[in-house]
Amino acid sequence: MAMEIKQDRLDAFLARVEHRNPGEPEFFQAVREVSEKLWPFLQKHPEFAKARILERLTEPDRVVMFRVTWVDDSGQIQVNRGYRIQFSGAIGPYKGGLRFHPSVNLGILKFLAFEQILKNSLTTLPMGGGKGGSDFDPKGKSDNEVMRFCQSFMSELFRHIGKNIDVPAGDIGVGEREIGYLFGQYRRLRNEFTGTMTGKGMAYGGSLIRPEATGYGSVYFACEMLRTRNEDISGRTCLVSGSGNVAQYTAEKLIEMGGKVITLSDSSGVVVDHAGLDTEKLAYVMDLKNNRRGRIKELADEFGLEYHEGKDPWSVKGDLAFPSATQNELDADSARELVKNGCILISEGANMPTTYEATKVFEEARLLFGPGKAANAGGVAISGLEMTQNSMRVSWTRSEVDTKLKGIMSTIHDTCVEYGRVSDDYVDYILGANVGGFVKVANAMLAFGAV
Ligand code: NDP
Repeated sequence: MAMEIKQDRLDAFLARVEHRNPGEPEFFQAVREVSEKLWPFLQKHPEFAKARILERLTEPDRVVMFRVTWVDDSGQIQVNRGYRIQFSGAIGPYKGGLRFHPSVNLGILKFLAFEQILKNSLTTLPMGGGKGGSDFDPKGKSDNEVMRFCQSFMSELFRHIGKNIDVPAGDIGVGEREIGYLFGQYRRLRNEFTGTMTGKGMAYGGSLIRPEATGYGSVYFACEMLRTRNEDISGRTCLVSGSGNVAQYTAEKLIEMGGKVITLSDSSGVVVDHAGLDTEKLAYVMDLKNNRRGRIKELADEFGLEYHEGKDPWSVKGDLAFPSATQNELDADSARELVKNGCILISEGANMPTTYEATKVFEEARLLFGPGKAANAGGVAISGLEMTQNSMRVSWTRSEVDTKLKGIMSTIHDTCVEYGRVSDDYVDYILGANVGGFVKVANAMLAFGAV
């Protein structure tokens, strides 16, 4: 008997998810956004409802939590908590980054791992969804402290991962330095050289274009969205938030394509450059953030630019917005401000940077809105290609990888349009990304039976 799915059943489903995951608002937010979009699709596909795919997909395969003990430079013992969420392995080894940030908790990592399932599916590569990290704060720590923390973290994590099991990468607070320490310890403990982590340095199995991939991909996705309205990046004023990995390469690609990038930020404030950042200022930011680990205010001081302490970019007038810092950094008031100021496109470089209420503002205004699981999938896509190169023991050229990245972003866009076109002149990219990502995972789960 076909199972009927009604709105009151959606409410009951969501109430159950909220009840079973107390104190995890970000996880609930992600599940709610996905479920609301999927519900009408599930009504047309009772086989998925009957097999309770969504109920199963919102319950992680497993969660590993562990103590990370390490010794700081003054000889004090420090204790942090480590996590790895192996959310869904239905279509491939678990894949997703590690985040080191004091705000990290179970709910935040579960939201990230849950989003990662659908994102990885959208890339068309065989990767399941996972995420991990720690409440460790690399800010203000010496290289030696970061190394000792990473070694202790990996001394537990190594038994849960492997090239065919779970392949972590970087995220907030985990860049090339941390990946080096983590992979070095993994290789030492296992005594084998495999591509069990991605985002590796070029000297030890990394892929060209991996550092750039998330930011470049977010811009390629924006180009695809603009093309549907016969527009392009050139001459457009762009607001970028953050100044880490994703923000830096988003800005780089936008500048290369003739966009005028007028903001960058960090958790302390925003720099506004009305003339538009050039490659010299961007090189300064990369050195500041990646080597000297300083604050974005120093960019303003160095070049005499505007700086607003405690503010974000969203009240600045711009055509295109690239939120590339962290979750829920763009709320409904900011969304209304952007719409009022004539913004026509949002491409989410970060994961869930837009609050639930803010997405509704953009939907109502019918902006081009690229949700993170589509727009920022370029990073994990090239991580997938790093795995391929490691298995084949080859290194592709920069242009080979960049061409593949463009192709994958274009395919993801096509998928969003296929499942998200709601009228002749409007594509609901959130709908398209959620349904497009869900179908493959759901079909794999159907094939497996009740597991
Ligand atoms: P980085 O650590 O390199 O940079 C993070 C940036 O965001 C920094 O400028 C940081 O400022 C800012 N930031 C972090 N937390 C906050 C906060 N609570 N409030 C305001 N600003 C904040 O991380 P990434 O660039 O790698 O990641 C950025 C986003 O992109 C995340 O949402 C991540 O999940 C997502 N993402 C990353 C991918 C990747 O390949 N790296 C792939 C797909 C998505 P400060 O230095 O002051 O903390």
